[in-house]
Amino acid sequence: MNVARYLIPIDSRLSAAEYAKNAETVLREMGVISSEDERFPSLFYRGNKSTEPFEKEPGDDEQGFESACIFSGPHFTLAPDEYVDGIRCPKCDAEITDQWADAMKDQEGYKREDDVSQVWVSCPKCGYTCRVHEVKPDTVDKFFLTDRYVCFWNARMPRAEWVAEFDRRLGCHHEVFEYGWT
Ligand SMILES: [Zn+2]
Repeated sequence: MNVARYLIPIDSRLSAAEYAKNAETVLREMGVISSEDERFPSLFYRGNKSTEPFEKEPGDDEQGFESACIFSGPHFTLAPDEYVDGIRCPKCDAEITDQWADAMKDQEGYKREDDVSQVWVSCPKCGYTCRVHEVKPDTVDKFFLTDRYVCFWNARMPRAEWVAEFDRRLGCHHEVFEYGWT
C-alpha cells in the first residue's frame, strides 16, 4: 500500500514560485527536508527531523517519509498527481475512466504537463461535459485544481499542530488530503 499526503494551500496570496520558495525554506529550516534531487528538481530528500510533521505509531523507524515534492506550476495541475482509477460522470454516474485518462494525456500519450484547467471530458452515455477536475472519482474525495502543493510519499498523517505551524509560517491555510493505492 502506498500513500501520498498532500498539503494544498487554499488562500495563498503569493505567486506559485514564491510559495514554493517559502515552503522549501521553511521545511529546510524545520529539518523536514534536506537536499533537492539532482535529477528531479522539486523532489526532496528527508532531513534529520523528517518524522516531526507526522503522527507516530509504535515501531515506526526514524524516517518520516520516502520523498517529498514541492510543486509550483506555473500551470494548473490536478492533485492527486498519481494515477486514479474509477472515474465517474458527475451527472449520470457512468464510468468514464477511459475518456478521462485520454483527456489527461498529451499528443504523445504521456501524462500531460501543461495547464489542465480548461481540459474537458465528455460522458459517452449522457453527453454531459465537464472539466477534468469536476468528475466524480471513486477512490479519492475530489480532485484539486491547483498550481502549488507540497506532497509527502509514504508518510503518516500530518499532525494538526504541525500543520497549524506550517500554516502560520507560510501565511496561508493548508488543506490536507491523502490518496492511497496498491
Ligand atoms: Zn453521464
